Amino acid sequence: MKTIFISDLHLDHKRPKVINSFIEFITNSKQSMERLYILGDFVESWVGDDDPAIGTRSAFEAIRTISDRVDVFFMHGNRDFMISKKVCERYGMTLINEPTQLDLYQRNILLMHGDTLCTDDVNYQKFRSMVRNKEWQDQMRTKPLEERLKIADQLRIQSKNATDTKKEIIMDVNKEEVVNCLSESKADILIHGHTHRPKIHDLTIDRRKCKRIVLGDWEQKSYILELDKDQISLTELNLS
Ligand code: MN
Repeated sequence: MKTIFISDLHLDHKRPKVINSFIEFITNSKQSMERLYILGDFVESWVGDDDPAIGTRSAFEAIRTISDRVDVFFMHGNRDFMISKKVCERYGMTLINEPTQLDLYQRNILLMHGDTLCTDDVNYQKFRSMVRNKEWQDQMRTKPLEERLKIADQLRIQSKNATDTKKEIIMDVNKEEVVNCLSESKADILIHGHTHRPKIHDLTIDRRKCKRIVLGDWEQKSYILELDKDQISLTELNLS
C-alpha cells in the first residue's frame, strides 16, 4: 500500500479534461493507496460553504466514494483557503494545517502548499497575510454569494496580471527559506506544490541528505507522487 501526494489541480468547469482525469485517477488508485494528500489549489476558487462548485462537484463526490477505505487529507492552497473543515468533512476529507509534519514509512516529512516559501514575492506575501486573516475572511463570509463570486473573479484577474509581469525568479521558492524550513523541522523530505515546477531536488542540510519534491500542476499533464516503504516516485502523465 502506498501514500499519494497531489496538488494544484486548479479544478474548474472550463477544464473538464482535468476533472475527468482526476476522477479516473481516483478510480484507478483506490485499491492501491492507503492515504491521499491534496496539498492545496485543488480547485481554482472557493468562496465559502455555499460555493456552487460549478462543474467540480463530481470531483468532490469521487473523493467521498473512496473515503471509507482511503484516508484523504486536504491542505489549503492560495486558491481554496476558504474551504472549511465542514466542507472537507462532507466529502470525507480531513483538513490539515500548513505546514504539517509527519512520520511516514520511517521518513520525516514536511508538507506545505509552497506559497510561503516564495518570500521574494513581497507583494504576494502582503496580499496573503491580508486574505488569510480571520477578520478578513469573516467579513468576506457576510457578503452575499454573488458578490463573493465577483470578488473571487477580480482577485484571479489581478493575480494573473501580476504574475504575467513578475520575473520568474521572484515567483519561485527562496532557497534560504527552504533551508530554514528543513533545518528547523529536521525533516528529510519537503513536499510542496504551488510553483508549478515539478522536480525532485537533492540537497544537503546540516550534513543530512534531504529532498525537496515539487509537485506539478494539472494542466497538460498530471503529477502524482507515490511513496511507500521502498521508494519515492513522481510520475507525470499526459492528460487524455
Ligand atoms: Mn498555489
